Amino acid sequence: MATPNLQETLSPREELQQQILKLSLKDKEILLGWLKATTKEEKQQAVAAQVPVKKGREVVQTLQSGTTLYRLEGVKCGKKKCKCARGQLHGPYWYAYHWKGKKMTSTYIGKKLDEAIAIAAEPNGE
Ligand SMILES: [Zn+2]
Repeated sequence: MATPNLQETLSPREELQQQILKLSLKDKEILLGWLKATTKEEKQQAVAAQVPVKKGREVVQTLQSGTTLYRLEGVKCGKKKCKCARGQLHGPYWYAYHWKGKKMTSTYIGKKLDEAIAIAAEPNGE
């Protein structure tokens, strides 16, 4: 038996779609729920990675745990005669940036990041 020609022209996604079509309605619904959850998480992580750096601050290190971004930042206090105005920034201090839907909240943590957080957070490379 010859296999249908269409097999050759299908992209990996199309092939997957063909397989999904064969699933039961229940399995499709489960798959849909899973897909929604994973894409949502992936989007939030992408957004978390793009938290803008405040003016005058210098990022020393970043860690990401789920949708929360932990960032170690050198900070400028704004006083003109301060050492930070000459490039010797204060800190560095840890900040947590968390996205809830479209709203981002930032929380000051301090000089030390909780060990539990540091372990849970995977270094996001680079
Ligand atoms: Zn200063």
